[in-house]
Amino acid sequence: MFSKILVANRGEIAVRVIRACKEMGITSVAVFSEADKDALHVSLADEGYCIGGPAPRDSYLNMSAIITLARATECEAIHPGYGFLAENHRFARLCEEHGIVFIGPPSEVIKRMGDKAAARETMRQAGVPVIPGSDTLRDIATARHEAERIGFPLLIKASSGGGGRGIRLVREAGEFERQYTASVAEARNAFGDGSVYLEKYLRPVKHIEVQILADNHGHIVCLGERDCSAQRKNQKMIEESPAAIPEKVRRRMAEASVMVAVAAGYRGAGTVEYLYDGAGNFYFLEMNTRLQVEHPVTEMVTWVDLVKWQIRIAAGSPLGFSQDNISLMGHSIECRINAENPYRSFRPSSGRIEMLHVPGGPWVRFDTAIYQGYTIPPFYDSMIGKLIVYAKTRDEAIRKMKAALCELIIEGIEHNADFQLEILSSEEFESAAYTTDFLEGWLGNGGHEK
Ligand code: ADP
Ligand code: ADP
Ligand code: MG
Repeated sequence: MFSKILVANRGEIAVRVIRACKEMGITSVAVFSEADKDALHVSLADEGYCIGGPAPRDSYLNMSAIITLARATECEAIHPGYGFLAENHRFARLCEEHGIVFIGPPSEVIKRMGDKAAARETMRQAGVPVIPGSDTLRDIATARHEAERIGFPLLIKASSGGGGRGIRLVREAGEFERQYTASVAEARNAFGDGSVYLEKYLRPVKHIEVQILADNHGHIVCLGERDCSAQRKNQKMIEESPAAIPEKVRRRMAEASVMVAVAAGYRGAGTVEYLYDGAGNFYFLEMNTRLQVEHPVTEMVTWVDLVKWQIRIAAGSPLGFSQDNISLMGHSIECRINAENPYRSFRPSSGRIEMLHVPGGPWVRFDTAIYQGYTIPPFYDSMIGKLIVYAKTRDEAIRKMKAALCELIIEGIEHNADFQLEILSSEEFESAAYTTDFLEGWLGNGGHEK
């Protein structure tokens, strides 16, 4: 096992990883930007070092500063969390070259799955159903031809996109060329890669994803699924496990996910995302080669600590359990708590937390890096915490989440807890049958009143 790990991230996920290290007797090293000297992850870690300015490119994306520090502090491994460098194959490669273990899959696997168009092709060849669509497009003539073949509405997607960015909806043929040109320019700008591909726009669908763990000894297990259909602008707001899908679909999805893991040569914790049409058909969407924001709901229903297993697998340990040992028990829901005002176009909010009260009671978990008196810097993601509950049934979990959201008090900044409460109270959410277009439609129809 490692004796010292560098955590190359900030916020709640850095805290999450540092906690796992502490429980495992591993020394943790935090890195932080000039804007984060008072951050919780820095005070919880055994050591902390400032590595640059507030802009991510100067600090949390500063590969050479992070590698240099890992070497100077004699860390054997780096945990990248999610976001920032977590899916950067060049960074994983740099770690490998410097004899530091990157806690995640090998760099070539990240590269293979990071190109979403190429990943689709790999999965198609492996016999996993993919969404009708195109390969990477080379020119406008091919693009137009492919678009006509697939039919409208369709999506133009950046091959290197992520986090809900780089996706464009085209409703009809007349809009296509203009949207295509704009997408290529946008992708080049945002991801440094102008490659795009097309996908048929499927609706109504559920976003269902399967958590997998693969060790270095050929063992692969599926840890159930999550329903992440409560989305706004293709970004998840609420996640739950298990999903309201037939047992037969769950089993087939698990089998497909093992095929995906094998085809990808996967190692560590990963997530296979699918769209499910409610009629027994599901389609591969993408693979995320990292720990996911919503991993806690899986931890609650499986009793598997995903971060600890990421670390153990990276250190070469075999998985200590098999598929037969995994059964989903109870129901878990996560609400993302964002510093934003849902009643003013979701504009981001920053500033000092004047008062904080965190809900408690049995099976209530709040993963966060905020504390009373903490000032949220304006430079980073607006997610400031994740409220997670666990109960025997879905109905009980919803009631528990509502109570917990009512109890949560964060004063001094704007946040979305009341808004989350409204979503949980909506008929669609309560029915469990909601699809990815539910939240936007509900917002558009004035589903929430304030
Ligand atoms: P998850 O896929 O884990 O549910 P998100 O899609 O919200 O969660 O992504 C997790 C974090 O990583 C977010 O902060 C998001 O902004 C960031 N992220 C994901 N993919 C990328 C990417 N390709 N480029 C930049 N940031 C990304
Ligand atoms: P990201 O890399 O940003 O996570 P994804 O390809 O996973 O992008 O898509 C994000 C979300 O966009 C999905 O969860 C889904 O809601 C929506 N989406 C993506 N592709 C399609 C599609 N072909 N049809 C309908 N919705 C889609
Ligand atoms: Mg995705």
